[in-house]
Amino acid sequence: MRIAITGTPGVGKTTVSKILGEKLNYKVIDITEVVKKFKLYKEYDKDMDSYVIDFDKLKDFLKDKDNVILDGHVSHLLDPDYTIVLRCNPKIIEERLKKRGYSEKKILENVQAEILDVCLCESKEKVYEINTTGKDPEEIANEIVKAIKEGKERKGVVNWLDKYIDYLI
Ligand code: ADP
Ligand code: MG
Repeated sequence: MRIAITGTPGVGKTTVSKILGEKLNYKVIDITEVVKKFKLYKEYDKDMDSYVIDFDKLKDFLKDKDNVILDGHVSHLLDPDYTIVLRCNPKIIEERLKKRGYSEKKILENVQAEILDVCLCESKEKVYEINTTGKDPEEIANEIVKAIKEGKERKGVVNWLDKYIDYLI
């Protein structure tokens, strides 16, 4: 099985993926890392300060990989069997991305993406969404293991839009 751990940058994907990988004995593939390492991109977008992924190359790289966790904010687009969408309060994401040294523009883009449920909306079945706000990574990983075992699907656990609409205007 292929499990996608997706969500806005800063939401906690890599932290949770590592713990989940150990629990399930699955290998974790950090999508951003392999895209850079194996040059699975079309170009570097200076304006966005990120690589434009070549999805054909990336899918080809992943085609023989099974029993893996795909850790990345586009992992839900890589034909997973299960998609876990992590959510987190936009203010916390903002703080985390500031610490990471992201530009103001990149921070705002990501905060807006979280508020607008972008990763969730793009995800195809089976989807299980978790609000990670205030939960520790171990607890989140346990919840994922349980959800997968029981074949659970869930969408619509947060509504940031009502509270954080100011970020969009
Ligand atoms: P992502 O891979 O989604 O960009 P990371 O896993 O790198 O996110 O986490 C971003 C930051 O937030 C890290 O400093 C990490 O230690 C912290 N973090 C991640 N998950 C949690 C959590 N559940 N509770 C508190 N801090 C967290
Ligand atoms: Mg990460």
